[in-house]
Amino acid sequence: MRKCIRCNCEMKEEYGLKISAVLAGVAPVILSKGQGTFSEDLGKIKAAVCPYCGEVSLYIDDLKSIK
Ligand SMILES: [Zn+2]
Repeated sequence: MRKCIRCNCEMKEEYGLKISAVLAGVAPVILSKGQGTFSEDLGKIKAAVCPYCGEVSLYIDDLKSIK
């Protein structure tokens, strides 16, 4: 459970991110290490939102690729 860094309330998790552009389509946002073709995908970025103040927090579920 994530707590809001601003008001310390419980955040709503498991939201996704969309690219808001006509040509970009709908694609999950991936955390990657490195740049361009040779970058390593580390996991889908998810979002949590605080229902009280609107603070948005980004996170990934799988931390094995980071440690
Ligand atoms: Zn909050």
